[in-house]
Amino acid sequence: MKTTPKASLYRQLPSVDQLLHSPEFAPLLEQLGPAAVKDTARAVLADLRVQIATGKLRAKALTALLPTLGDVVSKRAQSALSYSLVPVINATGVILHTNLGRAPLSAEALQHIRETSGSYSNLEFEIAAGERGARDIHVDRLFARLLQGASPSTQISTIVVNNNAAAVLLALNTLAEGGEVIASRGELIEIGGSFRIPDIMAKSNATLHEVGTTNRTRVSDYKKAINEKTRLLLRVHRSNFEMAGFTEQPRLEELVALSRESGIPLLEDLGSGRLCDLPGLEDDPGVTDSLRAGVDIVAYSGDKLLGGPQAGMLSGRSDLIARMRSNPLFRALRVDKLTYAALETTLLAYLRRDFDAIPILRMMRFSRAEIRKRAEAVRIACQPATLRIELRDGESAIGGGAGPSAALPTCLLVLSLPGVTASEVAARLRALTPPVIARVEQDRVLLDLRTVLPEQDATLARALFQIAEAGSSQPAHSPAKDQA
Ligand SMILES: *Cc1c(COP(=O)(O)O)cnc(C)c1O
Repeated sequence: MKTTPKASLYRQLPSVDQLLHSPEFAPLLEQLGPAAVKDTARAVLADLRVQIATGKLRAKALTALLPTLGDVVSKRAQSALSYSLVPVINATGVILHTNLGRAPLSAEALQHIRETSGSYSNLEFEIAAGERGARDIHVDRLFARLLQGASPSTQISTIVVNNNAAAVLLALNTLAEGGEVIASRGELIEIGGSFRIPDIMAKSNATLHEVGTTNRTRVSDYKKAINEKTRLLLRVHRSNFEMAGFTEQPRLEELVALSRESGIPLLEDLGSGRLCDLPGLEDDPGVTDSLRAGVDIVAYSGDKLLGGPQAGMLSGRSDLIARMRSNPLFRALRVDKLTYAALETTLLAYLRRDFDAIPILRMMRFSRAEIRKRAEAVRIACQPATLRIELRDGESAIGGGAGPSAALPTCLLVLSLPGVTASEVAARLRALTPPVIARVEQDRVLLDLRTVLPEQDATLARALFQIAEAGSSQPAHSPAKDQA
């Protein structure tokens, strides 16, 4: 086989000006303006030169590509001016998928956001009195009703910040700045996205006083470590890993007793904000369990098991919460009206005990039989000759650092397209609009309908049809497809 020298391939590429003066560019120039189109044309040509240089683009492919260059530039220029954040169909079966936005919001929450954010609102305004108000009263009253029963003898208050990492930072800074915080070596965790307890501690200006060992810590270790500089006892939920074997951790009640005896408050970073019973998480501590046990302050996420918007809550003793509210960091970490609106809707659903109104709770409560029925319907709706679809029992994951080993029984759609690898099938699914994100295991593509919103089932069936029709020849990403 004769190979064309690279120099001759480079010569076949048009110049930016040649490209821009070709007639097919006239409408694009009109629509997007010459600067945007010129930049894109330059970037596309630069990419092609790289592909030639690295031997990825040969003579034959280049010849096929040249007539479509106008199209390539046009698509890339359009995409630069369109949304980067787009909806996807989560068919991974991981309910709180941090990369896919954790908890989807309910239609009701979106409606409340639209109504209160598309116009002015009483975010910080007391309507009856005609005076300035506080933004946290909208949800504090709801948290009080949801949590007060857990701790009847203590007044419980709640404040909301940007996320749970911010909540932990605010609590440590308010309660322990300049002093020491005692924490177990077995709980100095890292949560995805570089949230590390020792780092947060350092940024809060508190000193970490580590006790115990990686696998075993007793309450006596905490007790021995208490000194005149101790400001806080810290307990961290090991959300994203489990330890087995020769391990020991003090019971929460023992830490509470030590906290009472020493007069040093106990902060628990719970991670997930579970507010009701959930399948698969029978042993996972909920917010009320912690408050009932006597923890002074609990920190938890709004978009993990609580199923609301991204947010971080601090709930507990109102005298300590009042101190956090007056910390200037609270102002820096506060949330906006969109978050309050979504959170208020979510909490009202809990008060009504209408758990199906919260999308992730609804997903978690689907039985395997219900999911199998939907999977069967998708399979029947989509019977292209080339695509093979089997149903198989499997497990969904809760994810988001909630119950690392908790799994929910599900029914999976197992796809195979003869002559096409599983990763290529998955890539084709991702190339659709909306992109479908699947699980790939042992060279099989698996779809778990637990995390697909039921109203997306028809879209998913159509998606399967599309990838099957593409047959076994066309790859999802041709070399010319831009990766901007
Ligand atoms: C998830 C988690 C965090 C971080 O919460 P974000 O809301 O993501 O900031 C902190 N601590 C624990 C134990 C967690 O599980």
